[in-house]
Amino acid sequence: MIGRHMQRTPTPGSTLDALVVGAGPAGVGTAIALGAVDDLLFGVVERGDIGQTFHDWPTHQRFLTPSFTGNGFGATDLNSVHFATSPAYTLGVDYPTGAQYARYLTTVARHFRVPVMTGTEVTGVDRDDEVFVVRTSRGPVRARTLVWATGEYSRPRLPKAVGSGLLDHSSTEAAWALREGRVIVVGGNESGMELACHHVERGSDVLVLDPDTPWDSGRGSDPSQRLSPRTRIRLAEATATGRLELSDRPVRRLRTTAGSIVLSLDDGSTESTPSRPIAATGYSPAIDPVGSLFALRPDGLPELTEDDESTITPGLFLAGPSVRHQSLVFCFVYKFRQRFAHVAGVIAERTGHDRSPLEEWRENGMLTDDLSCCGIECAC
Ligand SMILES: Cc1cc2nc3c(=O)[nH]c(=O)nc-3n(C[C@H](O)[C@H](O)[C@H](O)COP(=O)(O)OP(=O)(O)OC[C@H]3O[C@@H](n4cnc5c(N)ncnc54)[C@H](O)[C@@H]3O)c2cc1C
Repeated sequence: MIGRHMQRTPTPGSTLDALVVGAGPAGVGTAIALGAVDDLLFGVVERGDIGQTFHDWPTHQRFLTPSFTGNGFGATDLNSVHFATSPAYTLGVDYPTGAQYARYLTTVARHFRVPVMTGTEVTGVDRDDEVFVVRTSRGPVRARTLVWATGEYSRPRLPKAVGSGLLDHSSTEAAWALREGRVIVVGGNESGMELACHHVERGSDVLVLDPDTPWDSGRGSDPSQRLSPRTRIRLAEATATGRLELSDRPVRRLRTTAGSIVLSLDDGSTESTPSRPIAATGYSPAIDPVGSLFALRPDGLPELTEDDESTITPGLFLAGPSVRHQSLVFCFVYKFRQRFAHVAGVIAERTGHDRSPLEEWRENGMLTDDLSCCGIECAC
């Protein structure tokens, strides 16, 4: 694949056909798809290093989607960003840590010669006629289209409880450190369960609070709605110790009293712990510099056309886990990668290029443009 499609390297002052912001899996994957289009002038800017989010993951955090090199038989590694690559092959592990996955992304970006300018933060975006003028820490970049791929990790979400500043978010190293007394985790989805199991495995008593009881089965077959097999196995082991309690009581308020943190719960009861409780309550989209260029859905996520384009700013595309189409959630790599080649194809057409080389992505099962097929439930 490399060498068949030549890409032109951006030069200072030129107007790109496409600028990708962020070099995580969404940015790197979309850039590789753009690189398949002959003569398309594009580049990627990244405020840290390639895969910066994964460099920032706590040391104990691992992927929950397994990697396995099934690529040759139509079952591309779930964590790949291109069908000719596999983290399981590159790394020799099935559940990569953040540092390992960052190594995979860097290897892939180098292999496909993705033009990434690291250490370059986007601080704002202006429009000059039909062109985006992107303000970066290294000066302005002009581009006809923009792919926003800055993920969610830099926007940790805390629960709406009073005193939520007393919580350590799951994205911090502190949340994984050994804690004094009973560990309280607010939020029982994947991250909450992973942390709960982590602390039970290290000998702590753990209480998990979540009114939505994500640990219940019978939530359909979409892994965005139900716990992964790996987490379920760990949850069963943690439950068997007798040191894990799961509760559907929502937290209303947190306060400190005499060396303890007291949580007031919805039913009038309280729980207390000598160490800071943990918030495993997810993330919000990191769209700040372009926030006004997207209309928002009632759930606060960017509203998109069927081409993952802003409904109010033509030429601005979103890639990554914040992509939603009605109730379809694209929060895993194996989901949002299905849109890399679609977005690249729309950009190719808009900028007068041939999108047909991207059919190779479809042939390899990595291009979904008919979204009606994604909601299938497993029969058994
Ligand atoms: C704890 C945890 C576990 C997860 N486990 C899995 C899993 O098992 N399987 C799975 O598929 N997914 C998993 N995910 C989700 C997955 O990690 C994310 O969906 C994925 O990282 C999103 O990729 P992205 O490229 O959109 O964003 P990121 O990987 O966050 O990349 C965004 C990049 O944009 C850069 N950036 C941000 N703002 C700017 C700016 N203004 N200017 C320039 N650059 C900027 C950042 O430095 C970063 O490198 C997990 C997430 C978390 C938090």
